[in-house]
Amino acid sequence: MENEIRRQKTVEELRAKLKDKKRIVVKIGSSSLQHPETGDLDYTKMDILVRELCNIRNQGKDVILVPSGAIGCGRKALHIKPPFTIAQKQACAAIGQARLMTTYQRIFSEYNHQAAQILLTKNTIEADLNRKNAQNTFNELLAMEVIPVVNENDTISTFEVEDVIGDNDTLSAIVTALVGADLLILLSDIDGLYTDDPRRNPAAKYIPIVEDITDELLSMGKASTGSSVGTGGMETKLTAAKIATYSGADMVIANGGDVRVIHRIIEGRDYGTIFKANRDKNFNFTDFIDNLHRA
Ligand code: GLU
Repeated sequence: MENEIRRQKTVEELRAKLKDKKRIVVKIGSSSLQHPETGDLDYTKMDILVRELCNIRNQGKDVILVPSGAIGCGRKALHIKPPFTIAQKQACAAIGQARLMTTYQRIFSEYNHQAAQILLTKNTIEADLNRKNAQNTFNELLAMEVIPVVNENDTISTFEVEDVIGDNDTLSAIVTALVGADLLILLSDIDGLYTDDPRRNPAAKYIPIVEDITDELLSMGKASTGSSVGTGGMETKLTAAKIATYSGADMVIANGGDVRVIHRIIEGRDYGTIFKANRDKNFNFTDFIDNLHRA
């Protein structure tokens, strides 16, 4: 009981500080931006998402968007059905990424803001010179009050092998570490972190706050499965949490079904699971990434 009261107090204190965050990364999964019936883009949701981000920018905060959906969008454009070869997925990404970016640029400009595209690979992050260049570009864009829109460069990253980041949960945490952001918001089709998948296990319990990413938590994440649309289940979200919190950022996992949740989170309201920043000076995110997918 005492523990419960203490935890509740910590959640409230942490949430109250979210309004002071200065550099925010928002990741949104493809399932949150598509019509479930057809898989086509939901322009209304994209519009609200961009409006939310422009409003953050208008408050003088830096904001970065990491949306998924390049491959899905290319697939829709080509009218092809799975199973896909690696080359087909890469071709889909080439088409879909350009389509997505065109749409984002148009909507951002409706709100008088500039969007910029940054495509990263695992190799870019690992190579010192490339990483430094990426960092400089991010910092320059943010200083210019531009909103970077980031994805993995899926057209040249080789899927299903070691040389890929592979999911945008992890990618968004890498971006958070790279730019020294102080908040990462992960939006997906689930309200937050549960002890198991609540859609399959009605006994699954909601976890409002994570102060430490324990082995117990990691094994829970491994056992649960994710949405059928994107690639990120709970496991990738916990990997993201490690990278983000050890690099000094708080992280929130929330439901992107209503994208207005973004400003509600930043106002400190009770949405999603909050992961407390836990900077570890021995944590080297480039080494961590180097070991991703290496068993
Ligand atoms: N980079 C992939 C895409 O844009 C998404 C990976 C993911 O779903 O997390 O299609």
